Amino acid sequence: MFRAVMLEREGDEVRSSIRDLVDEDLPAGDVLIDVEYSTVNYKDGLAYAGAPGVVREYPIVPGVDLAGTVNQSVDPRLAPGMRVVVNGCRMGEQHWGGHAERARVPAGWVVPLPESIDTRTAMVVGTAGLTSMLCVLALERQGVTPDDGPVVVTGASGGVGSVAVSLLARRGFVVEAVTGRTEEEPYLRGIGASAIVDRAELSGKVRPLAKERWAGGIDAVGSTILANVLSQIRYGGAVAACGLAQGMDLPTTVAPFILRGVTLVGVESVETPLDRRIAAWDRLATDLDREQLASMATEVPLSDLPAVAARILDGKVRGRVVVDVTA
Ligand code: NDP
Repeated sequence: MFRAVMLEREGDEVRSSIRDLVDEDLPAGDVLIDVEYSTVNYKDGLAYAGAPGVVREYPIVPGVDLAGTVNQSVDPRLAPGMRVVVNGCRMGEQHWGGHAERARVPAGWVVPLPESIDTRTAMVVGTAGLTSMLCVLALERQGVTPDDGPVVVTGASGGVGSVAVSLLARRGFVVEAVTGRTEEEPYLRGIGASAIVDRAELSGKVRPLAKERWAGGIDAVGSTILANVLSQIRYGGAVAACGLAQGMDLPTTVAPFILRGVTLVGVESVETPLDRRIAAWDRLATDLDREQLASMATEVPLSDLPAVAARILDGKVRGRVVVDVTA
C-alpha cells in the first residue's frame, strides 16, 4: 500500500484527496519508482485548480516532477536502487505523476541522477530549474556571454526565475532581476542578482525600440513585460522565453528582430528529448550553487499540497517548493 494524492472531477469542480493505493492501481509502464520527493510547479497549481487544458482525464495523480529510486525496471539502463528523476513528459496532465509514494512510467522518461545530485536537490531544481538550465543553454547557443553586458530575468522570485538568476550569476553574468515583489531584494541579491528592477517599470506602454539595456534575458512571464524586455535588448542579443505568468499575449513589433537582430528563442521542457535532458542535468550538476539553491527551497508534506498549489497561482510562492511525499 502507498499514499497518493488523487484529483477527481465532480461536475465543474476538481477535488483532491489522499488515497491508499496498491501497485496494480498504477498505469502500465517499464519502471516502478519509489518516489522520495516531488515539487509544486505553476502547472501543478493549474491542475489542482481544475484549469482547462491541463489535465486530460480524471482521476489522476498530479505532480509534473518526481525523484526517487528504481524499485523494478524492464530497462537494463535503470537498475533497482538507482537514483532517478522524471520531469514533465505530461506527468500530472495525461499520466499519473509525482504526488505519490510510488509511480510507474516509461523508461524513456527516466534520467539517472548525476552522482552529486540527491533526490531532494533534484526536486529543488524540478521542472522549473530544468527549464532555467535549458534557457541558459539556449542563450549560450545564441552566443550570449558575460562580456556582452548585463542580462535580465523576469518573474525572478518564482521557481524558474530564481534558478535562472542563480545559474546565470554562477556563469559570471551580471543579472538584473525583474520582480513585482521588491521586498524580496535581499533574497534575490542572495541568489546572485546584481540589480533589482521593479516589474512596474516594464508594465507600461510598449515602444517598438527603447534604449539598449541588456545583452540577453530569460523570461518566465510573457505578455507586456516580455515585449518591453525585447525592446531593450542590445544589438544581436537573445531572449529565451519559457513562461506566461503574466499572459500568453506578446504585444510587440518586429522592430527588435529586424532593426537590432534580436533573437527570441522558445524553450519547452515537457517534450524535451532524453539526450537533452541528460545533458541539462549534467550541467546542473556542475553549475548549481548548492547554498543558493538551498535558500530557495521550502519543504511541505503531501497534505499541504492543495493549499500550496493555490498559492503558486497567486504568485505568492517564493523560489521552489519541495514535497516530501513520505511525510
Ligand atoms: P512561479 O509562480 O514560481 O513563478 C512565476 C513568477 O512570475 C512569480 O513568482 C512572479 O515573480 C511572476 N509573476 C506572477 N504573476 C505575474 C504577473 N501577473 N505579471 C508579471 N509577473 C508575474 O512559477 P514557475 O517559476 O514554476 O513558472 C513560471 C512560468 O514558466 C509559468 O508560466 C510556467 O507555466 C512556465 N513554465 C514553462 C515551462 C516550459 O517548459 N516552457 C516549464 C516550467 C514552467 P515576481 O513576484 O518576482 O514578479
